[in-house]
Amino acid sequence: MLNREDSYKNKGARKKLVALLKEKGITDNAVLDAMLAIPRHYFFDKTFESHAYEDKAFPIGEGQTISQPYTVAYQTQLLHINKGDKVLEIGTGSGYQTCVLAHLGADVYSIERLEKLSTKAQTLLKDLGYAATCKSGDGTLGWQDFAPFDKIIVTAGAPVMPKTLAAQLNIGGIMVIPVGNEHTQEMWSLVKKSTKTLEKIVHDSFKFVPLIGQNGW
Ligand code: SAH
Repeated sequence: MLNREDSYKNKGARKKLVALLKEKGITDNAVLDAMLAIPRHYFFDKTFESHAYEDKAFPIGEGQTISQPYTVAYQTQLLHINKGDKVLEIGTGSGYQTCVLAHLGADVYSIERLEKLSTKAQTLLKDLGYAATCKSGDGTLGWQDFAPFDKIIVTAGAPVMPKTLAAQLNIGGIMVIPVGNEHTQEMWSLVKKSTKTLEKIVHDSFKFVPLIGQNGW
């Protein structure tokens, strides 16, 4: 059972955060509405929930972080989610990004390397009434049982784009993935034009925790 409250103070802080995201250039209203609706502080331990509406990444334990709200909005906007899209997410972490995708009507499949984080996120999403299919494991291998996907989002920094993921993307599908070294990564959005062709657009630079796995670091 979820033993948390969404106070007026929280709602007010969330409204301010969403206004800031708009100022920073996020234009997709569906994304902004989802982030206005979802209580991000539920994804924080109660002791730290006062930090939930700062536009910052924050530690979630196990050496990992919940992505900065701007980054979540930026990646989600690039995915152009349509209701019913089958989406693969690599790096469930706190489950906040998963929740944003589910709120937009996506059918979400999410993989987290660390079992402890995966279990915690699954419990929270269920308590919040969101359906997402989650597992712990190496997301750089994709999720063949449910492939192909309309969209793929990677929320950890990759050294290269894992080809296994591209193979599990539908023709016309979009993959959003940060690629670079351990200090900085460029946000790539890739559109699968044919079985063999991906069209790449390079966006702004970000800093993510590393994607660790067979096709990662
Ligand atoms: N979207 C999450 C981001 C968490 S940080 C959120 O906003 O809360 C990125 C997550 O990717 C970490 O939890 C990390 O453990 C996970 N990760 C790293 N490599 C992975 C891999 N190969 N497969 C699945 N998850 C991975």
